[in-house]
Amino acid sequence: MFERIGVERGHCTFCGTWGPCAVLYGAGDTAMQGVQGCEPCLTAVHKAADLLRTLRVARAPKAKATPKKSRKPRTGQPEHAAPYQGPSKHEVGSLVPLADPEPS
Ligand SMILES: [Zn+2]
Repeated sequence: MFERIGVERGHCTFCGTWGPCAVLYGAGDTAMQGVQGCEPCLTAVHKAADLLRTLRVARAPKAKATPKKSRKPRTGQPEHAAPYQGPSKHEVGSLVPLADPEPS
């Protein structure tokens, strides 16, 4: 990985042309040790980097949807119903009326 960019006159690493070059220096590189590139070659390098980025983005799994925020409980929500306090179900009769005797 490069850590800085300089400008020097030199031979382009890619095409060998002599002239002004942008120089990409890695960690510990001294003058004339970096990768030198002329403008046309570095323009091509930039396009190549764009191509790689396009491929990377196209292949990357789609980002997960952000989780929905939990809803706040509605205010004014009715309280839980009070427990049943009526008579035991064994103490009350059936709500179904008894069958009337056949009219004679
Ligand atoms: Zn070049």
